[in-house]
Amino acid sequence: MMAASLSHKTRAMRLSQYPIQTTKETPAEAEIVSHQLMLRAGLIRRLSSGLYSWLPMGLRTLRKAEAIIREEMNRAGALELLMPVVQPAELWQESGRWKEYGPELLRLKDRHQRDFVAGPTHEEVITDIARRELKSYRQLPVNFYQVQTKFRDEIRPRFGVMRAREFIMKDAYSFHADAASLEQGYRLMHEAYTRIFTRMGLQFRAVKADSGPIGGDVSQEFHVLAASGEDAIVFSDADEYAANMEAAAALPPREPRPAPRESLARIATPGAKTIEALAGLLKIEPSRCLKTLLVEGEGENEVVALLVRGDHELNATKAQRLPGVASPFRMADAERIQRATGAQVGYIGPLGLKCRIYADHAALAVADFVCGANEKDMHLTGVNWDRDVQGYVAADIRNVVEGDPSPSGKGALKLARGIEVGHIFQLGRKYSEKMHAAVLDESGQEVTVHMGCYGIGVTRVVAAAIEQNHDERGILWPEPLAPFKVVLVALGQQKSAEVRERAERLYAELTGAGIEVLFDDRDARPGVKFADAELLGIPHRLVVAERGLAAGRLEYRHRRDSESVEFPVDEALAFLKDRLGR
Ligand code: ATP
Ligand code: MG
Repeated sequence: MMAASLSHKTRAMRLSQYPIQTTKETPAEAEIVSHQLMLRAGLIRRLSSGLYSWLPMGLRTLRKAEAIIREEMNRAGALELLMPVVQPAELWQESGRWKEYGPELLRLKDRHQRDFVAGPTHEEVITDIARRELKSYRQLPVNFYQVQTKFRDEIRPRFGVMRAREFIMKDAYSFHADAASLEQGYRLMHEAYTRIFTRMGLQFRAVKADSGPIGGDVSQEFHVLAASGEDAIVFSDADEYAANMEAAAALPPREPRPAPRESLARIATPGAKTIEALAGLLKIEPSRCLKTLLVEGEGENEVVALLVRGDHELNATKAQRLPGVASPFRMADAERIQRATGAQVGYIGPLGLKCRIYADHAALAVADFVCGANEKDMHLTGVNWDRDVQGYVAADIRNVVEGDPSPSGKGALKLARGIEVGHIFQLGRKYSEKMHAAVLDESGQEVTVHMGCYGIGVTRVVAAAIEQNHDERGILWPEPLAPFKVVLVALGQQKSAEVRERAERLYAELTGAGIEVLFDDRDARPGVKFADAELLGIPHRLVVAERGLAAGRLEYRHRRDSESVEFPVDEALAFLKDRLGR
């Protein structure tokens, strides 16, 4: 009996006893709809920049997301463990990331002045566990995972829990005796992630990714498709190719560059600091103007020039990988630009520069182009590669644009926006080599283990689900993530004993049948109750009202429907079970 009544409590809730208020007003600090709705519905509250509390209603959904993730990780054979948030600096020094990781890494000192970090990820800690526990190939492959708090001191925390500083991640790490086993383990995680996001009822896509500071060779991100997504993703209209914009290769143009026709000329372009202004002034296409961007080089006071077509954008992820370019990637400041070119932003060009010059393939295909003259208010026209500019290196440094040929060789690229909810990596031996994680193979030889790592932003996925599932009245929870399956709305129960009794009986009956019910038994107007039910996004709504009861009927509506249906009051349980099963 105890157990039954306890589980009753978690299954059901009376709104009359729930102290968190919903709000009608859109909070000014929230830019995107999921953040607005999470605040309005009382799912989360902001403590400080990038720090959020999960209130009971929000926590219910978060726990559902976690449960789906755990079930699928367990199904895939992964083993759950739990590692500390605070990690000793020594491990990060061993891996080299104490230096490599930028200001996103929160560094702490304890009372003995020893250095620690608040873990942004756990490769070091798990590799330390692996090197202590794993001795033989017979223990491999193995996959450990945890659901745990991470801290990243994000430069721009925003959108609520979407890009927070403290957030919950499911992170998994697999260990393998060889590369083939790693590939297999990676595929298994790809399948598990596909099942996880499918079960959550999300529209998503796996895309080829850049590995970023975590490292490794092969990686894919899982993106929930949403217009507000921070990431641009690209895919071929003819085959399976899909990639994050950061990682999407731009193929060099097929046609050879036309021969030069114009001669070099210097022209006055007062105030034309942008490509738009310049192209407007000269009445030419922006694609005929080349942008020269100066970024910091590896050496002290060094700069590197990057040239892209005026209608193209620089891809910082690609540029950062070029020899000579500083990592992390930084644009040169005004002072350095002045020193390197004698000019200021808006009037820079490649002629006469004494630094490394990288030119994008598309920029190299332009003849008779326009660029800055390295002098204020002056540009050059009729500029041509080789004839006027030498010593450059061709590279892919731009973002692809819609219609570019797909790098897969088939079809043209299309663009979409996505929210990165998961990321899987084949790390190879990046950490195991540096940290000496090895096992004995069949022949008794010591072999360095191969590693994979696999993350899901658990708190982010909740926001992403709302971003994809809402209307003007509120959240439309995919059923598996809804905090409650059913909202039971009693209308006029203060006045009508019949409504009160019938609603109480239904509440007990549904809860007893194991259905998660939110009971709106408040002394409030119908409009308020309906608005809250819709804001909270509970999928199934059951209304008990005096008029219906007089005719022996109850009213039902799904959150995604626009009309209610009526059914006999005695059939409530069967009716609902049927709807829930769909
Ligand atoms: P992003 O590109 O969005 O900054 P990331 O590539 O740095 O993310 P990973 O290191 O791949 O993130 O972390 C695994 C997952 O953790 C991400 O796919 C994302 O869902 C989640 N995540 C990362 N940073 C945050 C954050 N600041 N707030 C909430 N979730 C995050
Ligand atoms: Mg990532």
